[in-house]
Amino acid sequence: MGGIVIIGAGECGVRAAFALRERGYDGAITLLGDEPALPYERPPLSKNPDSQPKVIRPVVAYAEARIDLRLGTSVANIQPSDRTVFLQDESSLSYDRLLLATGARARVLPGFEGCLTLRTDSDAIAILTRFQPGARIGIIGAGFIGLELAATARKAGAEVVVVEGAPRVLARAVPPQIADRIAVRHLAEGVELMLGRQVTGADATQIALAGEEPLTFDCVIAGIGSMPATDLAQHAGLHIDNGITVDGNFRTSDPFIYAAGDCCSFPYKGRRVRLESWKAAQDQGSVVAGAMLGESVVAGNVPYFWSDQYDLTLQAAGLFDLHSPIVERAVDGDGSLVFQCQDGALSAAAVVGVGQSMTKDFKVLEKLIEKAAPVEVAVLSDPTQNLKRLLRSA
Ligand SMILES: Cc1cc2nc3c(=O)[nH]c(=O)nc-3n(C[C@H](O)[C@H](O)[C@H](O)COP(=O)(O)OP(=O)(O)OC[C@H]3O[C@@H](n4cnc5c(N)ncnc54)[C@H](O)[C@@H]3O)c2cc1C
Repeated sequence: MGGIVIIGAGECGVRAAFALRERGYDGAITLLGDEPALPYERPPLSKNPDSQPKVIRPVVAYAEARIDLRLGTSVANIQPSDRTVFLQDESSLSYDRLLLATGARARVLPGFEGCLTLRTDSDAIAILTRFQPGARIGIIGAGFIGLELAATARKAGAEVVVVEGAPRVLARAVPPQIADRIAVRHLAEGVELMLGRQVTGADATQIALAGEEPLTFDCVIAGIGSMPATDLAQHAGLHIDNGITVDGNFRTSDPFIYAAGDCCSFPYKGRRVRLESWKAAQDQGSVVAGAMLGESVVAGNVPYFWSDQYDLTLQAAGLFDLHSPIVERAVDGDGSLVFQCQDGALSAAAVVGVGQSMTKDFKVLEKLIEKAAPVEVAVLSDPTQNLKRLLRSA
C-alpha cells in the first residue's frame, strides 16, 4: 500500500495527518489509533468534570481530507527492514514514511498498583465519578495533573489531600514564586498539602508513608508523571534517550521513520528535551509533516505550557533552569511574573493570574524568547519599563 502511516491518533498524529494534506501531499495517509474514541483533547480531562470529550476534528473532516482513520487499532510491531507495520490482528501495512506519535502513558510504579491514573477519557470517567460531595480523595503527586485534579475535586465538594515527596508543589518545572501562588490558593480552597513526605506504597484506598500511619481514602489517584510510549520504537531498534531520539527534522535513527509529540526527545538550544505539552504536540505535528515531505525544518518553537486551577491560569514559555537565578517583575493587580535570562537573552518566563489577566504580558515575553533578542535583567525587571516597547526595540 505504501504512503504515510501514522501510529498514534492523538494531538500530534492528527495534526500531522491534516498538515500533510495542507502541504499538498496527495498520497495515502493511514492514521492508526488504539483508543476506540474519535481523537479528543486531553487537557479538559483534568479540568472540566462536566464536559463531554472535546473531539480534535469532527469525523467528517477525516473523510474530506482522505485520511484513513482506523480507531481501536493497536500496532504490535514495526519491521524497518521491509518498511512494514504489523497490527495486533496480525494484518500488516507497508509504508514509504512512518510517523510515531505514540504519546506517553501515566507512570505506575511497583507498589502503587490499584491507584487510579489519568491519561485517557475512560480514566477520566473512572476518576471524575468519584468526585462526590464529602468523598475523601487522596492524590499522590503535586505536579500539574495532581493539582488540577485537586482543584476539580474541591469544586465537586470532595475532601482532598495531596501528598508530595518534594518540599514544594510543581517542583520539577515551575519557579518557586509561581508555585507558591498556586499552593496558597489550594490551601485557601481547603486542600490539605502534605509536602516532603515519602510515599512507600499505595492502593485503591490507602497511601502508606515512611514513618507515619497510613492514610485512608475513598479513592487514591497517582499523578506521578508519565513515561514516553517507546516500546514499539525500542523493539524496532531505534535509538531511545528519554523518548524516541530524533534530530532537528524529527527523524529517528531510521531514515524512513519519524517521531513527534510526547513520545520523542529532540535537540533544543544545545540540549535534548522531551516535552509533554499540547502546543508542542501540535507544533511538532505540523513541522514533522513538512519534514516527511522533504522540507528542511528545525525543531525550534518555544516550549509552552499552561495549566488551569480554580480561576487561576498559569503559563510558562521556554525552559527554566531551576538552579540558576530567577527574577520577579512586579505587575499590576494580583498576578505574578517571573523570568530568567541566559547569555544576555530572555530564556524562560512564567506568569500566573486570574483567567487571562496576565496573557498580554506573557505573549510579549514569549515573543522576546522567540527572537532571542538581547535584554538586560535590570530593564526587564523594572515595572516602569513598557514590555511592548521593549519588544519593538528588540
Ligand atoms: C489529563 C491531561 C491534562 C493535560 N493538560 C494539559 C494542559 O493543561 N496544557 C498542556 O500544554 N498540556 C496538557 N496535557 C498534555 C497534552 O495533552 C499532551 O502533551 C498531548 O496530548 C500529547 O499529544 P501526543 O499526540 O504526543 O500524545 P497522545 O495525546 O498521548 O496521543 C498518543 C496516542 O497514541 C496511541 N498509541 C500509543 N501506542 C500505540 C500503538 N502501539 N498503536 C496504536 N496507537 C497507539 C495512544 O493510545 C494515544 O491515543 C495534558 C495531558 C493530560 C493527560
